[in-house]
Amino acid sequence: MGKRSQWRLGTIILGCLTALSCKEVGRIFAPDIISTDQNWVIRETEHLSIHVRPDSAAARDIEWIVSRLEESFHKAVNYLQVQYNNKITFFVYSSVQDKEKNSGFNGYGMAWPSLESAAGFYESPQNYGAIGPHELVHLIVYWTVGIMTSLALDEGIAVAVTGHYMRSNEYPDGIPVHIAAAQLNSMQKIKPVSAVFDNRAWGSVHDQDHVLYYNQSGSFVAYLVESYGIQKFNQFYTRASANEYRSSFQQIYGMSIDDFYQQWIQFLSLLL
Ligand SMILES: [Zn+2]
Repeated sequence: MGKRSQWRLGTIILGCLTALSCKEVGRIFAPDIISTDQNWVIRETEHLSIHVRPDSAAARDIEWIVSRLEESFHKAVNYLQVQYNNKITFFVYSSVQDKEKNSGFNGYGMAWPSLESAAGFYESPQNYGAIGPHELVHLIVYWTVGIMTSLALDEGIAVAVTGHYMRSNEYPDGIPVHIAAAQLNSMQKIKPVSAVFDNRAWGSVHDQDHVLYYNQSGSFVAYLVESYGIQKFNQFYTRASANEYRSSFQQIYGMSIDDFYQQWIQFLSLLL
């Protein structure tokens, strides 16, 4: 297995960790959080309204956060090849505890797409969550590509744009998502296509093994976009429900999803 097998120990999770997808939870509960918690100072940037706690590490390091979130915004719209003209409200909690206590949700990041809002936390340049493209992708996709039909494609595109889901000692800037997925494939953990496009089954994978959930989704979507471009993916994204994904994949890509899935598994098996 080599050195890469060690990344499962001591990794830092960058995506959102919730019982439902970050988007769905957010849609249900966000308005209370945003209206009741007023303890913020606000920095307006070109594309974001960044909220940080007064006198926090985030307030001290605001220039780093501004440049990172603005870069993330550009990375997202460039990858998706869309235009997004509204401002995004981004809440930077002072710690994961602050976020969990005051937002009411576990995990490092959150997106409330319908409210054009997202959240993460920042303690130091070494310890932060969701100060990157992932949550921005969720809300930009919602407003420009359309309504989610598949959890796997929704989390997959967020991970694909970011390029990774976790960091490790070997990969301090993030474990490239195809490397992470190849490792899972070598352990024979990759789930079949039927489980991936069944939102209930795929959601239970999330609860059991979020490393598998995000890396498999992210690698599959990245490989699909690398193979056939973002425009076809954006069409598929809105037509990938459990009833529809097979026929819409065949129509959009001119091949069966089973054949493409095998190509992707073959690609992974040659990586390590
Ligand atoms: Zn997410």
